[in-house]
Amino acid sequence: MTAEPTIRISEIFGPTIQGEGALIGQPTVFVRTGGCDYRCAWCDTLYAVESTYRRDWKPMNAQAIMKRVKDLSSGKPLTITLSGGNPATQDCSALIQAGKQDGYSFAMETQGSIAQDWFKDLDILTLSPKPPSSGMSTNWDILRDCANAAGANTKVSLKIVIANDEDYAYAKEAHAHLPHLPLYLQPCNTQVSKDHINMDNLSADMRALVDRITQDQWFTPIILPQLHVYLWGNERGV
Ligand code: SF4
Repeated sequence: MTAEPTIRISEIFGPTIQGEGALIGQPTVFVRTGGCDYRCAWCDTLYAVESTYRRDWKPMNAQAIMKRVKDLSSGKPLTITLSGGNPATQDCSALIQAGKQDGYSFAMETQGSIAQDWFKDLDILTLSPKPPSSGMSTNWDILRDCANAAGANTKVSLKIVIANDEDYAYAKEAHAHLPHLPLYLQPCNTQVSKDHINMDNLSADMRALVDRITQDQWFTPIILPQLHVYLWGNERGV
């Protein structure tokens, strides 16, 4: 008998609300996979990235993941957000099929460094390419492949965090590569403290980004905060 494929899971939590991007404010359960092909300078989920945390990641098959999601959501279908790490490093197709059979829908966030066939089964695909302040570089062809892997019913958008002028220029470049996609910009949360977030700094960064696009008369992007940081700081699993 062939063993059922599993996904390395860092954590499953919720229901809570989506804190950023196209689904901001929408109730969701997060399924965070373990493992990432990037190492961003300001990554706030290193526990789902670094192999030193691998022993904390639990291999779970689609049925086990859906059982946990159903327990958390009392069996009431909602949007499941696949996050990471980079969920595109693993095969999430069986999970998406199993969840959809029970009426759940699926959103996923990935940096767009690996395209997978099963993106076509997602309801929402947020491509979040990482700007220069991350220390990573973007392969624009692969990012385009990721967008093209979406299905006819998959809503695709770009979401980019902005920490400095270089990041802002990068966001314009990303938009030039994929001009048909809705574009969300948000200030980059570079505060790493688990215990204290300076709200004045968060708000100042948000105002600066709004000023930037209005002075620049760049009216394409939608500017959003990272709502979960305002509500819960850098607390894990909310
Ligand atoms: S892509 Fe995301 S999860 Fe991976 S290192 Fe960067 S911020 Fe962290």
